[in-house]
Amino acid sequence: MTSIDYSNLADRLITIYAKQKIVSDRKKFRINHAELQESLVLPVCQSIHVHANCVDVYKNPNYLNEVLDTIDLATIYMNVDKRENEPDKNPNLKYDDFVVLELLQYFKHNFFTWVNTPKCPNCQDEKNVESKGSIPFNRTLPNPDEISIVEHYQCFQCGTNIQFPRINNPVSLLRTKQGRCGEWVNCFMLILQALIGEDKDRIRYVWNQEDHVWCEYYSYGLNRWVHLDPCEAVYDEPLLYCNNWGKRMSYVIGFNQNYIIDLSDKYITPEKQIEKSSVISKNKVDKLINYYNSNKLANYYNQQVSKLGNEHKALLSVYNDIIIPRNQELDVMKEPNKPSATSTTLTKGRQTGSAAWTKSRGEDGNS
Ligand SMILES: [Zn+2]
Repeated sequence: MTSIDYSNLADRLITIYAKQKIVSDRKKFRINHAELQESLVLPVCQSIHVHANCVDVYKNPNYLNEVLDTIDLATIYMNVDKRENEPDKNPNLKYDDFVVLELLQYFKHNFFTWVNTPKCPNCQDEKNVESKGSIPFNRTLPNPDEISIVEHYQCFQCGTNIQFPRINNPVSLLRTKQGRCGEWVNCFMLILQALIGEDKDRIRYVWNQEDHVWCEYYSYGLNRWVHLDPCEAVYDEPLLYCNNWGKRMSYVIGFNQNYIIDLSDKYITPEKQIEKSSVISKNKVDKLINYYNSNKLANYYNQQVSKLGNEHKALLSVYNDIIIPRNQELDVMKEPNKPSATSTTLTKGRQTGSAAWTKSRGEDGNS
């Protein structure tokens, strides 16, 4: 009688399942060309198209040296060591987690600057500077900084015209070190990838329909994706926006290398949930996310086949690197006993931006 090798059997079942899922998802979530084109201009869907593969840019190996040459690694790692040696540290956190915690502080307090209104270079002040609107960047010019629009201002004290280009190239932001939440998150993610990303799927861009962005990283200490707001140097407080800023939101979508995920249930409390259908039907959003995810699954499989040179191993990685983590994450979001409070040490309301700007956005904690 031959004995059954159960571990081998389990692997075989997994690979059969993974292969079937790649094929069936592709079929099930196909979207025809006309519908895809139509979705390019729909709210939320438009952003999914734009950001679907947005974390890939941070993995450019040439960027690693740029980051390491720019940031003050000695200070960061000295402070990481201090955090690691604190007697009351969270015992679940690993070295990488302390790096992230320290990077948040360094980035906000020693590296990047928030800009509401740019300073007049002549008067060295922003209080007399007023907005004159913005225009898209001239497409006929070379654009190494990947500028999307240029905001125009004028100082009514001395008459100087001031331009504030909105830069999208994260490496350029290592040089300019300023902007609003878009620039903050873009540059922060570049540094985060350089310090902890390796070749893993560990960093995630998080986009909110109500005009804010932040990010997440995968913590091996906590075994989950952890919320990070670089503008506020806030760690693992997903209810910051609803509970603390009083922000009402409709959709929150996360973009990591291997999949796109609707994170609305993680970040939006029932009281602050703007009716999703008032923005766009959830079905349309889910359909587009499924479409991209089915492509990501197939692409990842192809990459793994070329990397590992083995179909069986490639299918196991698809299962372990995408199917399982995504399902686990979706399950956790459905749990009824999610945390419902932010930590009591947080200051009420948004900390970046002027008081009037914050209030006008309903983010001052009093809305
Ligand atoms: Zn001036």
